[in-house]
Amino acid sequence: MGILDGKTVLVAGVTMDSSIGFATARFAQEQGATVLISNFGRALGITRRIAKRLPTEPVVLELDVTDTGHLDGLAETLRGHGVERLDGLVHSIAYGNPETLLGGDFTAGPWEDVAQAVQVSAYSLKSLTEAARPLMGAGSSVVGLTFDATVAWPAYDWMGVAKAALESTSRYLARDLGREGVRVNLVSAGPLKTLAAKAIPGFEKLEATWDERAPLGWDNGDQGPTARAVCALLSDLFPATTGEIVHVDGGFHAIGA
Ligand code: NAP
Repeated sequence: MGILDGKTVLVAGVTMDSSIGFATARFAQEQGATVLISNFGRALGITRRIAKRLPTEPVVLELDVTDTGHLDGLAETLRGHGVERLDGLVHSIAYGNPETLLGGDFTAGPWEDVAQAVQVSAYSLKSLTEAARPLMGAGSSVVGLTFDATVAWPAYDWMGVAKAALESTSRYLARDLGREGVRVNLVSAGPLKTLAAKAIPGFEKLEATWDERAPLGWDNGDQGPTARAVCALLSDLFPATTGEIVHVDGGFHAIGA
């Protein structure tokens, strides 16, 4: 018996087998879910190849969260793949131009790039949820990924601002979708060695101190604990939890110094 037996889950944002989305898709399958994954643009070919490494090769959808055509057609596309009800939606997506928005020169970030980062990394939680809403109902669960936006970090800069917007967006979605019985939560992960993290200049300094300060320690090469928390939130084990941010960071957030 798996915690996701009989459920259908879309994991948006899988590029490599290092992606948090990949680990989530794998654990969701191990727990009994039927999983679909998505990515966009040029990396879609990589995603299709990587998909074969999952226990069961999933359907791979093209989904750019800034493309209204993709979003408007999502429910129909899912129905075309035999999905009548979506029990879980995972938003594992972020982008900010590393040359202008990350790395420590915070005041230099131009608005056009900030706007793109907020659209792709935060507003898209709303766009994607709205696009999938016709297939979601009581018991469905939306889960996104954040990096603790309550404080300022070295190098993270405007992505931190985008994450603050994501965290707030998830609370408003939780407010409005609660009446339909749909839950919306985030997992706040510690630093993990993924493509997105490698694009952040100076992020490795953060990674280095995390393991020392986190009470439980931290393995930045293990996406498993984060994937498990996402799947727990997708499951029926948290029926009364919404608008929440679950930390999966070895306990780092609880320690002052
Ligand atoms: P990742 O493998 O690079 O995943 C990010 C995904 O977002 C990629 O598949 C990327 O596609 C996709 N994406 C970017 N722009 C998109 C768009 N317009 N439409 C659709 N998809 C788009 O890195 P990850 O670390 O697993 O990131 C997943 C989530 O976890 C992100 O929200 C990230 O901020 C969050 N997170 C990561 C860490 C960490 O340390 N790694 C910690 C806390 C939270 P392309 O590869 O094709 O650009």
